[in-house]
Amino acid sequence: MFLQKLELQGFKSFANKTVLDFPGGIAAVVGPNGSGKSNITDAIRWLLGEREAKNLRGGKNDDLIFAGTEKKARMGMAQASLYFDNSSGFFPTEFKEVVISRRVDRDGDSKFFLNQSEMRMKDIVDFFAKAKLGARGLNMIGQGESDMILKSTPLERRELIEELLGLKEYLLKKNAASRELKNTSFNLEKARAQVAEIEPHLRSLRRQVSRWTKRDILAEELRQIENSYFSGRVRQITEGLRAFDPEMEKLDAEIAKLKSEQKILEAEFKKIEVSEPKAKKELEALRNKRRELFNAKMAASAAPVVAGKPAAPETDPKLLFKEIKELAEAALASETEDDLKAVLKKIVNLIEDVENADEASAPAAVQEIDNGKLVEFNRLMDSLDEEEKRYQSELDGFNKVFRESLRSVESKKDEIEELDDKKQQLIFKKDKVLFQKSELENQLRAISRKFEDFASAAGADSSMDERQAEQRMMRLRAELASMGDVDEAIIKEAEETEKRHAFLAGQIADLEKASADLKILLKDLDFKIRHEFNTALGKINDELQSFVKLMFGGGRAELKLENRQALKLAAVGDGVAVGTGAVLPVEEEADETRPGIEIDVVLPKKKIKGLEVLSGGERSLLSIAILFALISISPPPFLVLDEVDAALDERNARRFGELLKNYARETQFVIVTHNRATMEAADVLYGVTMGDDGASRIVSLKLS
Ligand code: ATP
Repeated sequence: MFLQKLELQGFKSFANKTVLDFPGGIAAVVGPNGSGKSNITDAIRWLLGEREAKNLRGGKNDDLIFAGTEKKARMGMAQASLYFDNSSGFFPTEFKEVVISRRVDRDGDSKFFLNQSEMRMKDIVDFFAKAKLGARGLNMIGQGESDMILKSTPLERRELIEELLGLKEYLLKKNAASRELKNTSFNLEKARAQVAEIEPHLRSLRRQVSRWTKRDILAEELRQIENSYFSGRVRQITEGLRAFDPEMEKLDAEIAKLKSEQKILEAEFKKIEVSEPKAKKELEALRNKRRELFNAKMAASAAPVVAGKPAAPETDPKLLFKEIKELAEAALASETEDDLKAVLKKIVNLIEDVENADEASAPAAVQEIDNGKLVEFNRLMDSLDEEEKRYQSELDGFNKVFRESLRSVESKKDEIEELDDKKQQLIFKKDKVLFQKSELENQLRAISRKFEDFASAAGADSSMDERQAEQRMMRLRAELASMGDVDEAIIKEAEETEKRHAFLAGQIADLEKASADLKILLKDLDFKIRHEFNTALGKINDELQSFVKLMFGGGRAELKLENRQALKLAAVGDGVAVGTGAVLPVEEEADETRPGIEIDVVLPKKKIKGLEVLSGGERSLLSIAILFALISISPPPFLVLDEVDAALDERNARRFGELLKNYARETQFVIVTHNRATMEAADVLYGVTMGDDGASRIVSLKLS
């Protein structure tokens, strides 16, 4: 059998070491009142992990230890052991025999042992709980507890059934999951509130930082354009300046050469100038002489003219023509316009004189001129002509050389002047480039850079021309200025706020996932609990029907979910219908809203219903029927029943005995009874007596 034996020593009235073997399916413990029978059930309850002394009918732990009598000394320690055959593997341990021992001494020191190894009480309680055994379960019905099920509240009944079905574990999980869900929801709300708190500030920080990020991009663009632009400009200026000096040197050399050539030409010119022949003066003197000669001739020819009117020489046509011819030759030889004009004037005057003289003169007077003097005069005139021709030709030669030399000097001067102009232009150009350089240096200084920084730069490689680059630089600078300086503190704050936001967002995602998982878990657990509970409740009621018929010979009893819940849930219109017509909610089933179990009973031949109107015996019968209906869906390996049959009459006690026998195949019974019919059903009968020394003793009365 599963339950093998119970050993007691010093436990309550069992002062001496006592062993109860349980060889059969039903062990009945019998004996007079106060002999110590219930101390045996107390011992089993104690071994299953009962903590409360009052549940062991004592005020304190000391009460568990044999107190001593006049004839027998008290004990210092109480101990008990329960032996189980675990060859079926009922307990999840490799031991074939499981021995639970418990010990308490008068110092209050209490110890548990599993197969001699000390264990914590909690571990022992868990060990039994996993096997659906416990000090308060349906496997222990103590004295006066026979109608425990009837006396329980609806919720206690429900919990009893849940425990019996092994749903406790799921309920605990469900409660834990519910608590976790509440915590998760709370934390989720908290995290969401924190995010909501952070977000407006974060948005403004992000805006600011993104402006600065754009600032970096713009600053980089500006720098690139500056590099390209200024490199180009610096290169232009440097190359421009470099070109000046060789050009200037070349010009200077050319000018120097021209100047030395000019000097030579000027010297030559001076030489020519001083070599001016006297011909000019000679010619002048010669002409004066001729004029005098002419005047003398005129005077000579005028003497023979009568009536006081001098005859003009010009009235002599031969002389006149000669005179005009000479003047015309002089006109041809004249070098200047003035000379020419003067000669022509003389010719005009001469002709006018002749015209005027025509009226007064008489050709006869002219013929009277001394021909000899005229010949002389003519000879002198001819020699003067010869001399004049010679001087004239000499003068003409000089003038030609003089003019040419002067022209060379002047042309050299022009050349020099032209080069000087060029030089001036070059100097002007250089000044302009130098000015550009200083302007560029100013610009560079304004952006804290130096001309030299760009001296070795590669130069402009931008697709922009200079004008475009200048405009772009101006726009970029204006834009950068409008953005203000980067505030490192704000950047840091933005980073930290981002981190915090990301952390919270991650937390929210985790919590949402956890919350969803928990809801699924809760739903699964809820479904499992309700499904198993409702299925079991249906089976229990089926069994209960047959037990009620067996015990009462008719009538009807039913365990059903409380109506208030059914009504409430029907109004809500949600939930799952169960066998009895009640409905359970799907989620968040708080204890107070969970429907408890009511007992409906109708006894045969009786009109009135309800538990309150049942007799003591009827209560016992109904309790036994319900107990067996309950254990029928999950039979415990053993069941300790202390005087549950006390109120039964002979006939009902016999029915009870039959019931035990029917169930003894699956469940081992330890029954404290005064009832003969029950005793007859037992496989083994222990008699408990109390001797004169106040210690209980066991007498084995019957072995099956
Ligand atoms: P009934 O048939 O009337 O229910 P019972 O056989 O079940 O009686 P118990 O209640 O088991 O009797 O035993 C009670 C007896 O055990 C009492 O006489 C009580 O004095 C004795 N007893 C209880 N605790 C101690 C203890 N610590 N030391 C000595 N005797 C004790």
